[in-house]
Amino acid sequence: MKHEADAVDWATLAVPPPTPTSSSLAYWAAAAAGRLELQRCGVCRRLASYPREICPYCWGKNLAWEVVSGHAHVQTFTRVHQVGHPGWRNAVPYVVALVRLVEGPVMLTQLLAEERPLYVGATCRVAFTKVGDWTLPFFRLVDEPEPARLKAEAI
Ligand SMILES: [Zn+2]
Repeated sequence: MKHEADAVDWATLAVPPPTPTSSSLAYWAAAAAGRLELQRCGVCRRLASYPREICPYCWGKNLAWEVVSGHAHVQTFTRVHQVGHPGWRNAVPYVVALVRLVEGPVMLTQLLAEERPLYVGATCRVAFTKVGDWTLPFFRLVDEPEPARLKAEAI
């Protein structure tokens, strides 16, 4: 069975690029530099994802960029087998997911599951991936610590 990311050369995919706006230019520049940045509201202090002009919680207009950890858990996912654009044909099947950052916001992303078990609640980390000319904040499943085993080793 073919797994996601097996032999996918993401950088050569001819897929439609993101459409940057004045609100998202800083987001894409940070991603290109390997940083995941979200906006924190200067009024209610909440983080928001995706980039925007006003806070989605209090409508405050004082949003400042802040680096976040890129540590997250899978909230939900789907495996894509039928492409919506022919440029993605060499990447299927791939996983699209909503991941909840440990800081709170939820991001829509592509998840590099590879051969790890994929389930709601799985731990993942941001994995900046070059797709065409863009660096996209994909996420990758990571091994989770086994608390019981770690506890036993500590005795
Ligand atoms: Zn706010």
